[in-house]
Amino acid sequence: MVLKENLQDTQRRILEACKRSGRRREEVTLVAVSKTKPVEMLREAYDLGIRVFGENKVQEITAKYEQLPTDIKWQMIGHLQRNKVKYIVDKVSMIHSVDSLRLAETISQEAGKKQVVVPVLLEVNVAEEESKFGISVRETPSLAEQISVLPNIQIQGLMTIAPYVENPEENRQIFRTLKKLSIDIAGKNINNVTMNVLSMGMTGDYEVAIEEGATMVRVGTGIFGARDYTR
Ligand SMILES: *Cc1c(COP(=O)(O)O)cnc(C)c1O
Repeated sequence: MVLKENLQDTQRRILEACKRSGRRREEVTLVAVSKTKPVEMLREAYDLGIRVFGENKVQEITAKYEQLPTDIKWQMIGHLQRNKVKYIVDKVSMIHSVDSLRLAETISQEAGKKQVVVPVLLEVNVAEEESKFGISVRETPSLAEQISVLPNIQIQGLMTIAPYVENPEENRQIFRTLKKLSIDIAGKNINNVTMNVLSMGMTGDYEVAIEEGATMVRVGTGIFGARDYTR
């Protein structure tokens, strides 16, 4: 019941942010971030129409993948270790967290073995927070060029995790910077690289992110409630 209301509220706020910024609702995909949440809750969200789920642990993706319908589009949004790529490479529809050439090479190799092409985003640490993964804005264009020549992997855009802030306005500049970076990279016309996806905005700041051009917002708490990491 709570989930249904949370979801309706989230959908309404996404729609309003789209209207405010003159964007069409179809331009923005809601990724329901279900990490730590039990399969029953994901099933409830599924029954309410959600098909795109975000997870940050390989084991959790593989376990939930087994138990839930096959038309779900799983999004790997967390830091990915190279030795675990093989377990999810043919199960996820996008990896949002590519932050090194070595990781991209592994994804390319493992995807080749399974004969799939994996859409990925480059994770950019726009705020340059020490505690976060991701590459710097400055490094991003050359990494995109290096990855572009690898088979079985396709860069489709950029992702960032903005700092935790009380007032979402504080992150507006971060989102603008990521948008501008994506335009700069698109302008380079790198073969096999598109910049159609901007994954930015979480529960606290997704409306501002949409106003600044997000095409994917990753909302966890706002849909499923607070996470319990003590279990
Ligand atoms: C957990 C997580 C989210 C969702 O965070 P909420 O604040 O609960 O909406 C979004 N993106 C990433 C990468 C995450 O790890």
